[in-house]
Amino acid sequence: MASGRIRRVLIAGGGIGGLAAAVALQRKGFETLVFERAESLRDGGAGLHVWTNGVIALAHLGLADAVLKTAPAQQTCHFSTWRGETLGAWPVGDFAERYGWPTIAVERSVLHGVLADALHGTPVRTGTHVVGFTQDRDGVTVRFADGRTERGDILIGADGIHGAVRTGLHGDVPPRYTGYIAWRGKAALEHEAIPRGTFNAVFGPGTRFTYYDVAPGTVHWMSVANGPAGGRDEPGVAAMLAERHRGWAGPVQDILAATPDGGVIRGDVIDRKPDRRWGSGRTTLLGDAAHPITFNIGQGACQALEDALVLAEHLDRGRTDPVAALRAYETERMARTAPMQRIAWRIGRMGAVENRFAVAARETFMRAFWPDRAFRAAEKDQVAYGRRWLSPPLDRHAGTGPELRS
Ligand SMILES: Cc1cc2nc3c(=O)[nH]c(=O)nc-3n(C[C@H](O)[C@H](O)[C@H](O)COP(=O)(O)OP(=O)(O)OC[C@H]3O[C@@H](n4cnc5c(N)ncnc54)[C@H](O)[C@@H]3O)c2cc1C
Repeated sequence: MASGRIRRVLIAGGGIGGLAAAVALQRKGFETLVFERAESLRDGGAGLHVWTNGVIALAHLGLADAVLKTAPAQQTCHFSTWRGETLGAWPVGDFAERYGWPTIAVERSVLHGVLADALHGTPVRTGTHVVGFTQDRDGVTVRFADGRTERGDILIGADGIHGAVRTGLHGDVPPRYTGYIAWRGKAALEHEAIPRGTFNAVFGPGTRFTYYDVAPGTVHWMSVANGPAGGRDEPGVAAMLAERHRGWAGPVQDILAATPDGGVIRGDVIDRKPDRRWGSGRTTLLGDAAHPITFNIGQGACQALEDALVLAEHLDRGRTDPVAALRAYETERMARTAPMQRIAWRIGRMGAVENRFAVAARETFMRAFWPDRAFRAAEKDQVAYGRRWLSPPLDRHAGTGPELRS
């Protein structure tokens, strides 16, 4: 059995997952080193919904208040048809009372920046491209594109869905294409139909449009449509999207009109089926490298934050047997994230239906089951997990933030 004290933790990838892991490990007193391929540390462009379970994870890292300074607390998730008929309204504002912390909408750059600012003394080597690793009984050696190497006691692959650490562990297996593409943008807009703290998902045949504010006068949106992977946009993409959503109820056209053409990001939506194994020996995976979850349940980044805390807990408890600690972390996190990968995929399939009979069936199903059963199940299965980091009784802390177990 490989054992020995953990002195040095290497992390490939400085995204939300890698930085959260670095902060969590730093708080437990581990020496940690982050390698990021990009020349500068950034995660820009789009917005994120961070559910209460993710916010509680941030609170446990001591960072929720910094994020909440700019991120509006969500009150309602509203689901409707493109004709403007309500399919369900989820009062997520109640989570703040039930769990002590709200669900929020936040600019990715804000969340990433708060995590980066929390790294005191943890070096982040930008412009450092991990290309592979080898491991033996006593440690791991990471290789970089420029030929250099670095030695540590364990390696965490937080380098995303195409990550090199994942490839080293599982081979070069391409991700699974969902069949739909997401266009994301940011509109400078105050609109009476976009009340503060409301997430809106509008469903049409084979296409969807979501929008929410992340700050006064800033609306993030996403248009999703079926199509082949690998496409590129011609100039005038905002006009193309306006045509796609012509006749849709609500502020959709106004949002697109308030979006600069060059600010639209296009991406094929991809994921992977849950794996039965993540890591081996002294190497593990975290975040999208381990369990890419399509945006359909807004949990990918939240799960990366949870991974970071659980990994730090296991390594802290298992300092003298890192290999066992990593396998225990993986067992715990696989049980949590695999159902989310599956449910997000299924909701995505449902969102992608085009045939008018299938669309009518979807609307009937959503009206009948979402407001009651689906919302309750999602709260129980996804949000309530954050409780593990809270000290009871919860209601004592509502409004001021809960007490956290250290
Ligand atoms: C359209 C869309 C909407 C989403 N909405 C939400 C939402 O509302 N809520 C939510 O919780 N999640 C959401 N997600 C998911 C979320 O974005 C991801 O789960 C999250 O960003 C994963 O973070 P990560 O750090 O694991 O991976 P990444 O963000 O992919 O970061 C990986 C990092 O590793 C670096 N890297 C890659 N390869 C190497 C290498 N070889 N060497 C060194 N560095 C490397 C990259 O440059 C990057 O900085 C959404 C995703 C999409 C696509």
